[in-house]
Amino acid sequence: MKNYKLAIVGATGVVGRCILKVLEEKNLPISKYVLFASSKSVGKQISFMKENYTIQELTEDSFCEGFDFAIFSAGTSVAKKFAPIAVKNGCVVIDNSSAFRMDCDVPLIVPEVNSEDIKANKGIIANPNCSTIQAVVALKPLDDKYNIKRIVYSTYQAVSGAGSKGILDLENGINAFSTNEDYSLNKFPHPIFSNCLPHIDVFLDNGYTKEEEKMINETRKILKNPDLNVTATTVRVPVFNSHSESINVEFEKEFDLNDLINTLKNSPGIIVQNDSKSNIYPMAINSTNNNEVFVGRIRRDFSISSGVNLWVVADNIRKGAATNAIQILERMI
Ligand code: NAP
Repeated sequence: MKNYKLAIVGATGVVGRCILKVLEEKNLPISKYVLFASSKSVGKQISFMKENYTIQELTEDSFCEGFDFAIFSAGTSVAKKFAPIAVKNGCVVIDNSSAFRMDCDVPLIVPEVNSEDIKANKGIIANPNCSTIQAVVALKPLDDKYNIKRIVYSTYQAVSGAGSKGILDLENGINAFSTNEDYSLNKFPHPIFSNCLPHIDVFLDNGYTKEEEKMINETRKILKNPDLNVTATTVRVPVFNSHSESINVEFEKEFDLNDLINTLKNSPGIIVQNDSKSNIYPMAINSTNNNEVFVGRIRRDFSISSGVNLWVVADNIRKGAATNAIQILERMI
């Protein structure tokens, strides 16, 4: 079997470090890893695969040594500048940023949902937004069976979704609460400790945030239904890790609730936790460090003729980013 060379761009970040962790859990035929970050991290040592790796600065020459694959988790501007250079050097890029997600010739992949689209790539494959990934894992089997007519998303998103600065804002808020001291914010426009911010990414002219727009557009692209009715309200909550989502779904076809629950139970990547009598439902603290999407609170929406409410929770750094990217890599290998 061929042994591949893999570049990891953004290896020092929240997602990058999780990628290293997930790779350590796998046994992929990769003979060489190179870890890249910005100039500020050059020389930093990271322990990976029982060895010490030295972080290298990402430059225009970084891909000359011939990588088979690169996983980028370094934001949109880095992806826009360096992914095309990597592709020109014969490397296939899996990008975690939103730089290419809506490009017509870039597949937007969640392996449980549309892995067949990977082969259409022209060098770049996009990883969807974290909140979209966990939602479509749950929605795809229901769409196949009952045809989704409309989706209403309400999200409760962890601070790790905003990278290391988001985590720092919550940590500083907790420390300041116990010491009664002032603190400055690194990421969010308001304190996140003891607060909920109905504001993720920038506001658009239509009143939605970019995060909400991403969920709407990416869901349509992944489910291959450009006219699907989708709306979203995305909220940052003071939780360190794992996004929770309330998803209201309206179907074209009638459904039997037990049949719907069994469909979810038998679908890839999903763990159903749906026993409200025993207080069992998906929770952020339980989904953290897991690769699956947890679904519960499954109940009929009595306000419409065929609708259901779901509570969907997943580790946004694993399934929402690192695990999904590595699952794409595994499929390509
Ligand atoms: P993060 O913790 O802030 O890490 C950013 C990473 O990018 C760091 O390794 C940083 O290196 C690197 N970087 C920044 N500028 C660079 C440059 N000019 N050249 C090379 N590397 C550079 O952010 P994150 O949460 O890991 O997110 C990374 C990407 O994944 C973003 O596009 C984000 O939207 C996406 N994503 C995040 C999540 C999530 O839940 N967090 C989920 C899905 C997708 P230094 O340490 O040297 O600055």
